[in-house]
Amino acid sequence: MGPPGAGKGTQGELLEQHLDAVRYSTGDMLRDARRAGTDLGRLAQTYMDAGELVPDEVVIGVVGEALAALSPGASVILDGFPRTIPQAEGLALILEAAGQRLDAVVNLVVPEEELVGRLSSRRVCSECGTLASGESVPSGACAACGSDLVQRSDDQPDTVRRRLGVYLEETAPVLEWYADSPVDVLEIDGIGSVAEIQDRIRERLAA
Ligand code: ADP
Repeated sequence: MGPPGAGKGTQGELLEQHLDAVRYSTGDMLRDARRAGTDLGRLAQTYMDAGELVPDEVVIGVVGEALAALSPGASVILDGFPRTIPQAEGLALILEAAGQRLDAVVNLVVPEEELVGRLSSRRVCSECGTLASGESVPSGACAACGSDLVQRSDDQPDTVRRRLGVYLEETAPVLEWYADSPVDVLEIDGIGSVAEIQDRIRERLAA
């Protein structure tokens, strides 16, 4: 978990390799559906472009289906889900029915002033969605596939502000919900190099 721009996708991908896990990013899943032009993608588009959350029942359905398709014993990283208390409750029901549980909630902590700068300067690949970010606005071609880099439509300043507002209203309370549950919430300082932050996450998960 963490606010928009905290580094969930970047750190989630590294952790996925380290743990040999499957990572489900609801943002990526919804963007894929949008690109493919499915009913789900069309429904999600208006919410995403406005920086609003896609309705809970839709997202819970998407995650529930993905989890049901996994082979038994798979390790899973959920990135960007749950983002509201009803989603956390929905996930708890899905896990309970499957006899599974969350091992930990990893919360990336980054101050708001840092987030706005990171989001407005980052670029993504128009084809494969790989993220490009750095000190200044990245230019040139995607490092993974050579396609054009573009600004994500929801990384425009007004939408970024809306996403941060939605985070504070809807997602921050989920952390309190987990704090009152048996699941450990690991608070990770999200300022530093990508490798440093990854090390912090791995150390806390191993402890
Ligand atoms: P970020 O965390 O940087 O905002 P994401 O890629 O995780 O980026 O999400 C982008 C958008 O996708 C969100 O603003 C929202 O519209 C939608 N979305 C992603 N995950 C969820 C979720 N769990 N519930 C509702 N909407 C979601």
